[in-house]
Amino acid sequence: MGRHKRILVAGGAGFLGSNLCKALLTLNSEVVCLDNLSTSREENLIFLKKNKYFKFIQHDITQPIEVEVDEIYNLACPASPPRYQADAIQTLKTSVLGSLNLLELAKKLRCKILQASTSEVYGDPLVHPQKESYWGHVNPVGKRSCYDEGKRCAETFFMEYHLRYGLEIKIIRIFNTYGPGMDIYDGRVISNFIVQALKGEPLTVYGNGEQTRSFCYVDDMINAILKIMDTEPNVIGPINVGNPDPYSINRLAEKIIYMTNSESKIAFKDLPSDDPLQRCPDITYIKEIVGWEPTTSLEEGLKRTIEYFKSCL
Ligand code: UDP
Repeated sequence: MGRHKRILVAGGAGFLGSNLCKALLTLNSEVVCLDNLSTSREENLIFLKKNKYFKFIQHDITQPIEVEVDEIYNLACPASPPRYQADAIQTLKTSVLGSLNLLELAKKLRCKILQASTSEVYGDPLVHPQKESYWGHVNPVGKRSCYDEGKRCAETFFMEYHLRYGLEIKIIRIFNTYGPGMDIYDGRVISNFIVQALKGEPLTVYGNGEQTRSFCYVDDMINAILKIMDTEPNVIGPINVGNPDPYSINRLAEKIIYMTNSESKIAFKDLPSDDPLQRCPDITYIKEIVGWEPTTSLEEGLKRTIEYFKSCL
């Protein structure tokens, strides 16, 4: 039996990308995954490659690509601060030139395209929680700019292709997401803390630990992404997707120490420059358009993630 649709996932070997590929295959689509494997894990592809409807192409989207598909998801870009800062120019090119190449492909194929944007477009927000109508507070020349400004420029490209060429687009702004499939050494707070706690090493809290984030479990996130792709053409976004419960980094550290039964202590380190003080999505809009809100508690999500990290170590 044939598959419903042929779908391109750029960045399909990454944490969110590989989880999305898995979900699309389950939903009876054929998946073409593009990835340059710069920060993604080949292990993420082992399971996927066993499916005959999955095709992997090692490709850097800063270069044009020709492939026949019905829909495109662009999730290609390193997303962890230490990783995206390691080669800032490449990060910027991935968001800007990569988006342009995929938009050109979508225009040629006349197909729908979704951009995985980010809560980082709000920078260090002065408005809390963040609504889509907030324009943000972003340093254009700081450590985070390559990611923030790259993603902001990508949103502009998407919007202009929609306005000028009538391309069907969806822009989602993804807030902090975690879960099985994360690279345990990518430098994110949840992966760092769980690995440190499991190894009995001190948990490295940056700054005074009073900064907040809100953490969305990966299955909830994938569910939201799929729902948004299926909305009517007049829904273009940007649309916030994330968990609306803010959590301080100190509380997170204590929770992870408790849940792993760890003897680890906390070690305070310098706060990286431009590290946002607070971040939390207002999810009124996504609730209204697709009735989505996260259903996995932090407790349950962390439990599953801790099990996954134990199996990796
Ligand atoms: N953070 C921390 N210790 C770590 C890694 C991160 O205290 O080992 C802090 C970081 O400074 C930030 C928050 O945790 O305030 C979330 O960081 P992450 O890198 O996960 O993502 P961000 O939301 O900053 O992009």
